[in-house]
Amino acid sequence: MKKVRVDLQKNSYEIRIGSGLLPQVGPWLKETGLSGRAVIITDTTVRGLYAGALSQGLTQAGFNVTVLEIPPGEEQKTLETAGRLYEKLTSIYAERTTPIIALGGGVIGDLAGFVAATYMRGVPLVQVPTTLLAQVDSSIGGKTAVDHGRYKNMIGAFYQPRMVVADVDTLKTLPDVEFANGMAEAIKMAAIMSKDLFNYIGNNIEKARALDVSVLEEIISANAHLKAKVVSKDEKEADFRAILNFGHTVGHAVEAVSAFGLKHGQAVAIGMIAEAKISNRVGRMKESDVIRLREVINKAGLPTDIPALDIGEVMTAMRHDKKVTGNKIRFVLLNAIGDAYITDGVNPALVEEVLTGYG
Ligand code: ADP
Ligand code: ZN
Repeated sequence: MKKVRVDLQKNSYEIRIGSGLLPQVGPWLKETGLSGRAVIITDTTVRGLYAGALSQGLTQAGFNVTVLEIPPGEEQKTLETAGRLYEKLTSIYAERTTPIIALGGGVIGDLAGFVAATYMRGVPLVQVPTTLLAQVDSSIGGKTAVDHGRYKNMIGAFYQPRMVVADVDTLKTLPDVEFANGMAEAIKMAAIMSKDLFNYIGNNIEKARALDVSVLEEIISANAHLKAKVVSKDEKEADFRAILNFGHTVGHAVEAVSAFGLKHGQAVAIGMIAEAKISNRVGRMKESDVIRLREVINKAGLPTDIPALDIGEVMTAMRHDKKVTGNKIRFVLLNAIGDAYITDGVNPALVEEVLTGYG
């Protein structure tokens, strides 16, 4: 098992990454001084696979466990679903000290995290991410939210978990496309912050896809460590944290214009290639680095070519992104693999050119 500490003064916590960890969540939670009732929030798919092992460990540690489940899917990330969960929490007399354990992918992490942040002004939260995306990215950093209308993550709060437990065994049942989705964020993290991690991923991607435990532990913990570094420096967004948006300026736009026909990670993969090309065109990133990035993204089973989308619409979507300030589109570009910078000085005509001449 590997441990990564997220240093946020009194909100500090530990991320534990390894094999066979689900049954240990109960004893660990007990060690933090909690007892009594514990609530697992999960989706129907994940419940069938993993709620048993988690809940058994909790019961053995003396907790009185309630499992609340919702159907899988982003459509569930709403205030209405949160409302139903509050209703259930009150009906079982959940208290201020009742921990909520979010067992599932990013949707469950965001939604259960939001419920934990708001129910009785906040109850203890434990994240138990079961997708690679959630293990490397969304379970770390304390962002919780639900969607509102057409807007993703519109209503939310920063709320830190007491603990994050990433059991790599859960990835065995994850569909390939979901695995690749998570790998996109891992590659992104490496591309902006660590050439070593990037090379490690590049050299071990087949092993990772074959679910080699030590390779997964290494990739997830290195990612968690880097993300922890970013979020401890800058708990509430602002400047430094924005480098995590590499691949996301174009990625979000492509994702939106595809009417979410592309998975987030697929859109980010396409976005990373476009933004690497832009980095090259403005005289920063070497061509050979762009090629290497494309190679690794490809080996991860992710798309690198822009799908047949209306480039005009993609440009419009980019201008309407909530991260746009004034008229300028903000980009995270690369000087080299492992070295990112933020700029709003990119000429939109260049962006359009790169997107049009894509592939
Ligand atoms: P993401 O982390 O990509 O945001 P979601 O929460 O949307 O993920 O989950 C994606 C899908 O994968 C959901 O249908 C969820 O039920 C399913 N899922 C989550 N974890 C696992 C797992 N370990 N094995 C199989 N399916 C899983
Ligand atoms: Zn992302």
